[in-house]
Amino acid sequence: MKIAAIQHFSMLDYPGKMSAIIFTQGCPLRCSYCHNADLQPISPGTIPFSDVISFLKSRVGLLEGIVFCGGEPLFQSDLYEAMVQVKKLGFAVGLHTSGYIYERFCEILPVVDWVGFDIKTTFKNYEKITGVSNSGNIAEKSFIKMLKHRNNLDFEIRTTVDSRYINFDDLLEIAHFLKDNNVKEWVLQQCVLRYEDKDDVALSLPNDAELEKLKKVINIKVRS
Ligand code: SF4
Repeated sequence: MKIAAIQHFSMLDYPGKMSAIIFTQGCPLRCSYCHNADLQPISPGTIPFSDVISFLKSRVGLLEGIVFCGGEPLFQSDLYEAMVQVKKLGFAVGLHTSGYIYERFCEILPVVDWVGFDIKTTFKNYEKITGVSNSGNIAEKSFIKMLKHRNNLDFEIRTTVDSRYINFDDLLEIAHFLKDNNVKEWVLQQCVLRYEDKDDVALSLPNDAELEKLKKVINIKVRS
């Protein structure tokens, strides 16, 4: 497992659980708004997994969950084994993912407890955000597969609204898709563009009237 960093404590990344975050190295997507571009390359990790396990042993009874984040954790060929080791220590296992790499997602579904699943945009328009052709088809397959396991895991569906590439009709289409699949809540995250040489730019979220229309379809939580 290629690990770039560990965050020792978070109350934000696994709803309701005091967690540590494991940042994996490598991601096959190139999202338009990525804040973790340094985690995209397939380069060696800097932290051995044995060090992670030693740290986690020191947190038994203090933390409740461990979240695998990235990069794209599904990129790690030994993700399943790593999750099993974490669970054996008594932690709940969380995953932040785009669902890209279907076979590995299927492999880990029996062991993961909570998934934060990013729906980037309508599946047919994925390439506009991810820069990778066919990424929408794969994400959709993973999403449908996850729903089949919904009795055994919790999940959060979220979309970072990059308003340069997602319009209101796209959002409405996603809302109906989620409703048709019995998803109860959808998180819309504000997209913030970060630059090295100038201030951050926060892109606009749907306006009040648009939010009301979306809320008639599905419960919406806005995160800015
Ligand atoms: S999936 Fe995540 S880590 Fe990968 S490019 Fe997109 S935002 Fe960045």
